[in-house]
Amino acid sequence: MDRSAGPDTGMPLHTRMLIGFAVGVVAGLLAYQFAGGAAWLEWIVTYVANPTGQLFLRLLFMLVLPLVFSALILGVVEIGDPRSLGRIGGKTLLWVLVVTSVAVSIGLVAVNLMQPGVGLPPDVAAGLQAASAERTGEIMARREQVSLVDVVLNIVPRNPLAAAVNGDLIAVMFFALMFGIAATALRTDGTKSFVGAVQGVYDICLKLIGWVIQLAPYAVAALLFALTAKLGYDILLQLGKFVFTVVLALAIHMFVVFPLLLRAFGGMSPLAFFRAAEPALLTAFSTSSSSATLPTTLKVAEENLGVPRRIGRFVCTLGATANMNGTALFEGITVLFLAQFFGIELSLLQQMLVLLMCILGAIGAAGVPGGSLPVIAMILATFGIPPEGIGIILGVDRILDMCRTTVNVGGDLVGAVVIAHSERGGLPAPELE
Ligand code: ASP
Repeated sequence: MDRSAGPDTGMPLHTRMLIGFAVGVVAGLLAYQFAGGAAWLEWIVTYVANPTGQLFLRLLFMLVLPLVFSALILGVVEIGDPRSLGRIGGKTLLWVLVVTSVAVSIGLVAVNLMQPGVGLPPDVAAGLQAASAERTGEIMARREQVSLVDVVLNIVPRNPLAAAVNGDLIAVMFFALMFGIAATALRTDGTKSFVGAVQGVYDICLKLIGWVIQLAPYAVAALLFALTAKLGYDILLQLGKFVFTVVLALAIHMFVVFPLLLRAFGGMSPLAFFRAAEPALLTAFSTSSSSATLPTTLKVAEENLGVPRRIGRFVCTLGATANMNGTALFEGITVLFLAQFFGIELSLLQQMLVLLMCILGAIGAAGVPGGSLPVIAMILATFGIPPEGIGIILGVDRILDMCRTTVNVGGDLVGAVVIAHSERGGLPAPELE
């Protein structure tokens, strides 16, 4: 079931988002065609469309800190129970970090090669650049001041609250990771009830995201109206290139990287894997939610792929929130796409930082439809890219969400197969013999 479906309207959320997208684009294009530059149109964009979109973005921003903080602590606590699953925890962590890095790298290479955000007509691009000139200037100034040593040092916050207040997400993530590790090492009544409370914070955030996301159709309509009324048709071409880049990069990860990993470390034929994993992959595709797919993922891991229950439960449960290859790849492409679109140049060093943030961002993103959007908005702001840009991709987000969630769940299952194989010392699964 689509957990994000609107309870009262009866129409699923993704249908409403598509309608919002269509309404926003058509109304915006008509306005651009017949009243481009008119004062009343400016007024509507400034006082109606923009504030509606801003409201949605603010609500997303509001949730990012508690969500990232609680999800990361829970992720580490689940990974790191030294008594029961220490070794498997280590392997899972290694798997998440390495395979997620590969995913983001594929995304970054694809977006750099295909340049989907480049190619706006010069006058439109100039207008956009003028609008974000102040921000661009700020980044340039900051970039010149900040050395490599500072970049690394700044990952460790001097004051976690100040980092949170300044929206310094990477420092907040570092703090949460340390907190999670210590909470795992120290299993007292106090730390256990703390973890219970953190679970409560996480659950509440998920609930709130569920509510906020109901506003998405209106926000999509408003944000796209504001964009197309100002920019006209050019924006649609950019979007097509963006979707193509994301789908291509996801396909490479799913159909090249996963099969290689399965052959090299999983002792399983990729064809057999995809056939066995199909129910979970289809559920992921139709729900756009790793969390909603989890019961199917667990069943498939155990019954179809021959993964022992304790390994399957651990790797897949953790993976549903922490191992998101497709999401990480998507975050990387989106951030660079919007940077290209707004004419903001990111140096190689900054792109490495994007890579790092996308890895942590994928661990911190919730396994619900659109779960990565708050994280992306935050990463955009960190690099001085207008977070409003997220409105450009919101309308096509559902289909991309379906695709990336399938890759996310596929990654959890490949991970479970590989880790189970290594625990057996490379012997075939007895259940499948
Ligand atoms: N919908 C994704 C998932 O549940 C998260 C995201 O990328 O938005 O895996």
